[in-house]
Amino acid sequence: MTVAEDPSEDEVRAELDARLARRRGRWGARTSAYFHLDRLHLLDASVVRRVETRIETTRDEPGDPGLAERPVYDVLDEYEVDPRDVRRGEPLDLVKRDTVSKRACACGNGLRQCPACDGMTYRPCEPARPCPVCAGVSPCTQYLAHGGKPGRTARPPKARRPVRPEERVTCAACGTPDSACGGCQGWGKVRCQTCQGRGRVPCTTCTSKGTVRCRTCGGRGELTSWTAGRITWTSETEKVPWPHRPPKRVTSQLHAGSWHENRLGPGDPLPDDLPLPHRSLVEQHLDTVKGEQDRTVVIRRLTVVRARPKGSGNREYYVFRNVAGRLTVRPAMSDEGRRNTAAVLAAAAALVVLVLLLVT
Ligand SMILES: [Zn+2]
Ligand SMILES: [Zn+2]
Ligand SMILES: [Zn+2]
Ligand SMILES: [Zn+2]
Ligand SMILES: [Zn+2]
Repeated sequence: MTVAEDPSEDEVRAELDARLARRRGRWGARTSAYFHLDRLHLLDASVVRRVETRIETTRDEPGDPGLAERPVYDVLDEYEVDPRDVRRGEPLDLVKRDTVSKRACACGNGLRQCPACDGMTYRPCEPARPCPVCAGVSPCTQYLAHGGKPGRTARPPKARRPVRPEERVTCAACGTPDSACGGCQGWGKVRCQTCQGRGRVPCTTCTSKGTVRCRTCGGRGELTSWTAGRITWTSETEKVPWPHRPPKRVTSQLHAGSWHENRLGPGDPLPDDLPLPHRSLVEQHLDTVKGEQDRTVVIRRLTVVRARPKGSGNREYYVFRNVAGRLTVRPAMSDEGRRNTAAVLAAAAALVVLVLLLVT
C-alpha cells in the first residue's frame, strides 16, 4: 500500500482538532481528546464474470434465410469458438449440420383465404337505407294497400329531394296519386349510396381477390427448418455485501476516498493482507458459475476512523484519506444527537397540540 496508507492516530487527531477549532465559538473549547477513535475497515468487493450460454432450438423461417454463411456444428457444447467472435461479444448464430430442410407451407401456394371477406371477394352492405325525408314512418298514406301488390322491385329507388317535403306524389308501390312521400315514392327506404342497392361492396382487404399473402411463409409457399445453435456472452456482476457501512451522509462522500484496489484474475489468490473476516466474506462469492469463462475479482478497501464523543455530544466525525492524499473529516449525527432530535420533534408536536387546544 502506498497512497492508501491508513491514517495514523496523530494525523487524525490533528485534523479533528483543526476542524473542532473552527466550531469553537459555538460549542465551547472541545478538542479531539473528547473523542474516542475506532477504525472501520470498509470493503467494497465484487466478482465480474463473463458467462457463456449455449442454446439449441428448432427454427422455421420463410423462404431461404441465408443459412449458408453461418458456421456449422455437430455438437453445440463441443463447438470451438473463434476468439475474435468472443471479443466481438455479439451472440453467435450457428446451424447444426444436415438439419436444414425445406418444406411446403400449410397454405400451399403462399396465399391464404382473405379473413375479412372469407374469400368471397366482397363484403355485405345494406342495400336500402331509411328515407331521409319520411324516415320510413309515413312513406304512403295508403300504405296498407301495399300488401299483396305484385311487381315490387328488389332495388329501392334512388333518394330524391322533393321541392317541398310535405308534397305528396303518386305512390310507386300502390299507384295512389298524391299519397306517397316525395323522397322515396312510397317505399319508405331509399337506395344505399355505398353499394348502389347491390347489397355488397368490393373487399378492400384483398382488393377483391379473395386471398391475401400468407404470413407464415411470407407468400413464398415454403419454409426452411433447421436446428439453430446460439452462443451468447454476458457480463454478470456479483456484489459482495458491505460488512458495515458508515451513516448514509458519509457513505455518499466515500467515492472521494483513496480506496486501495486489487483486481484479481481467475487463478489469482486473494491478497495476503486481506483481514480474515473480509477474506471469508469474499470467499463466499467465489464459486464458479455454469458457463463461466473469465472473471475479475475487484476488492476495494478503505479505512475510515470514527470519532465518537466520550461524553455527551450530538456530533460524531468520520475521517478518511482522500484521493489527494489529505484527510477528509465528515460530521454526522451521533446516537445521542438522533435521540435529542427525536425528543425536540416530539416536544414541538406536543407544543402544537397544546396551542391548538388553547386556541379552540
Ligand atoms: Zn377479402
Ligand atoms: Zn302506396
Ligand atoms: Zn320517404
Ligand atoms: Zn349498401
Ligand atoms: Zn404459407
